[in-house]
Amino acid sequence: MTKLYIVDDDMLTCNLLHTIARPIFKQIEIFKNPRLFLKQALKDTDIVILDLMMPDMDGIEVIRHLAIQKSLSHLVLISGYDSGVLHSAETLAKSHGLKVIKILTKPISTDELTNTLLSFTKTSLQSKSATINKSQQDLKANIFTPSERDLQKAIENKELVLYYQPQITMKTEMLSGAEALVRWLHPEFGLIYPDKFIALAESTGLIEQLTEEVIHLAIAQSLHWQKMGKTTKLSINISAQNITSLKLPEQLKTLVKKHELDPSMIVLELTESGLMGSITTSLDILTRLRLKGFQLSIDDFGTGFSSLSLLHKVPFTELKVDQSFVANMTRNNESKAIVETCIMLGHKLNMEVVAEGIEDKATWNLLLAAGCDIGQGYYIAKPMPALEFEQWQFKV
Ligand code: C2E
Ligand code: CA
Ligand code: CA
Repeated sequence: MTKLYIVDDDMLTCNLLHTIARPIFKQIEIFKNPRLFLKQALKDTDIVILDLMMPDMDGIEVIRHLAIQKSLSHLVLISGYDSGVLHSAETLAKSHGLKVIKILTKPISTDELTNTLLSFTKTSLQSKSATINKSQQDLKANIFTPSERDLQKAIENKELVLYYQPQITMKTEMLSGAEALVRWLHPEFGLIYPDKFIALAESTGLIEQLTEEVIHLAIAQSLHWQKMGKTTKLSINISAQNITSLKLPEQLKTLVKKHELDPSMIVLELTESGLMGSITTSLDILTRLRLKGFQLSIDDFGTGFSSLSLLHKVPFTELKVDQSFVANMTRNNESKAIVETCIMLGHKLNMEVVAEGIEDKATWNLLLAAGCDIGQGYYIAKPMPALEFEQWQFKV
């Protein structure tokens, strides 16, 4: 059973929180002293409402102790300070591996807290039954930890496939292109997502073969769509290690020439963090790719701590704002400000700006108002196999 802990030195706030939570929780315990609270044996189903500002031991210290205890309980952080402080505390807690379900500024809105607590108790019940109902296949895919040999075989046996996620021109709502996202169709374990094997490919050097296969698949698909009269711009993810191979521009150029494809219909996406390695080699390769007519996109922008001069040095044509900012922009003013600034920056540098991770209409509307060029996310469509993408495309 979920237990609620309230940790706040201010008795008035404690009473208010207790009144709001009483109809939802059977067990509630209040701690004015955080040191006593830290002696409790917390369960992973518990919720802790934690005030950041306390005289003896502040909330940040409590967070550090919870992290040391490897606590799996769920945190609601509250503070009378501005939301910037709360947001930093949230980031800190998450970087320690703690679960933060909500941050709230004082005075606490009764409605907002009630909704948070209710939706937590509901989803924790649902996720329990969902876990029980999870198909055998999903469970199998989850426990599968591929080895280098497995991945090598998968590439050789052509088990890698591409899913395509639409990208939409926001002003006209017309299809602008698609991002190709790799999947592994394992004969025994089913559909395996890239988070299970891209890092492995990078650490073992298999990424060169993997990217080559992805490029071949994407070009074959592009040709097929061109023949159907549905020429589509395709974005392909390139790993940082791929741009240490000086051969890449020529290899790509040869492929494109052989199939008489227009290189400007291919966008190569590189993550900001990936680019920070050997910038001199990367710069050589990236500039040659641009000269050969390919488009270059800087992916996950805003997460890599790169300097602004990188944007100036590398001839990017597109900037993709990281989805963590997009996903939070309706709830969090700082995220919204970051997205808006990225859009302005991209435009000033003559780049098209893509927002990915759009999950609802409210986010779409904010991005449209901020002048974002292209939108991508579950609100529009999830990544789909090629055939499904074609059907989706004919529908719009
Ligand atoms: P990414 O390049 O940032 O791709 C976007 C990821 O966000 C995709 O996950 C996509 O399915 C997911 N996504 C799209 N819209 C939404 C949304 O509205 N909400 C949420 N929560 N997620 C959304 P996916 O396909 O699992 O790929 C994960 C990462 O794996 C990619 O992140 C990319 O870094 C890497 N990856 C995928 N395909 C390739 C590839 O062919 N080569 C390389 N090197 N990396 C790849
Ligand atoms: Ca990408
Ligand atoms: Ca991204």
